[in-house]
Amino acid sequence: MSLAKAYAAAAATAPLAPFQLERRTPGPHDVQIEIAYCGICHSDIHQVRNEWGNSTYPMVPGHEIVGKVTAVGAQVKGFKVGDLAGVGCLVDSCRTCPSCQRQLEQFCEKGAAFSYNGTEMDRKTVTQGGYSSSIVTDEAFVLKISPKLDLAATAPLLCAGITTYSPLRHWKTKQGDRVGVVGLGGLGHMAVKLAAAMGAEVTMLSTSKSKEADARRLGAQNFGLTSDPATFKKLAGHFDLIIDTISAPHDYNQYLGLLRVEGAMVLLGVPPEPTPVSAFPLIMGRRTLSGSLIGGIRETQEMLDFCAQHGIVSDIELIPVQQVNEAYERMMKNDVRYRFVLDMKTL
Ligand code: NAP
Ligand code: ZN
Ligand code: ZN
Repeated sequence: MSLAKAYAAAAATAPLAPFQLERRTPGPHDVQIEIAYCGICHSDIHQVRNEWGNSTYPMVPGHEIVGKVTAVGAQVKGFKVGDLAGVGCLVDSCRTCPSCQRQLEQFCEKGAAFSYNGTEMDRKTVTQGGYSSSIVTDEAFVLKISPKLDLAATAPLLCAGITTYSPLRHWKTKQGDRVGVVGLGGLGHMAVKLAAAMGAEVTMLSTSKSKEADARRLGAQNFGLTSDPATFKKLAGHFDLIIDTISAPHDYNQYLGLLRVEGAMVLLGVPPEPTPVSAFPLIMGRRTLSGSLIGGIRETQEMLDFCAQHGIVSDIELIPVQQVNEAYERMMKNDVRYRFVLDMKTL
């Protein structure tokens, strides 16, 4: 066992505060990482505030983790002390079910072990996330991080990056495809960068006119203001794929009308309340409404390698860990450009 410093929520209504936790002594397959940076995902806020109704406390959030390897178990083959390493939303899975065999560990049929607000596969040991000084994770769930990329700005790739990369790949985004990205936040800005790097013609669909110049700088060719009904008329039947990253309740039906025949809309955002969906925009054009959850470990490594090759990282605001509660408030006010990253040196 070793002690790690951390920031934790004691309850749904409590601000995050300093906390100490125990990390296990690395077993034969484990990698111990000194955490340098951890991104703040909107899922951290949903879970800290128990918006999905599944939260347990105390909770150390954080699943966009990067740092340096400080110890490895005797059987570890892929990492050595001093290597850069990352941990995302998953720390284990059953490894034998059909989903795990397809390397879709996020859909493990026994229920994967998530990095925090969950348990290890023993279903007893509570997992605690990356707003902390260190983590110990089985090497099968540890990612290799390229030294070519800025380390702090790489952290958000571990969730925002893979969550947007995975549906773009699943729906086979290619040169010239028309991709609409809904919501320009942490996920949205990665979706724009990644879709543009795959050669798509990207349109940003946003409630914030003030983000238009940024959307274009990030790689969008077009910008549609979603508070203006004319946007929905102009872009009707336009998109091959729509990636919806909005974190709050909103009407999906109006976006479905923007899909071409057999186009697909993928929900990534997880608003706390359900929203009614009408059959009409789906049957008119055999359109698909789908969802997607992060990505498996193999695909996460593929995404990190793609980003290293294309020089893609997140646009971040690096903050000391003591400002985490303020960062949450700013995210709730839609004031983030485009991901907060905690500097763990400040713990
Ligand atoms: P974020 O940085 O807070 O961005 C969310 C964006 O949604 C905002 O920038 C804003 O964009 C738009 N938005 C926010 N409130 C809105 C409202 N009331 N109406 C319309 N638009 C609104 O959040 P994030 O970290 O990207 O996460 C987004 C969502 O994805 C969260 O629900 C999170 O839990 C979820 N998530 C899912 C997965 C997955 O595996 N599926 C993984 C990670 C996160 P504009 O200003 O451009 O309108
Ligand atoms: Zn996340
Ligand atoms: Zn499994």
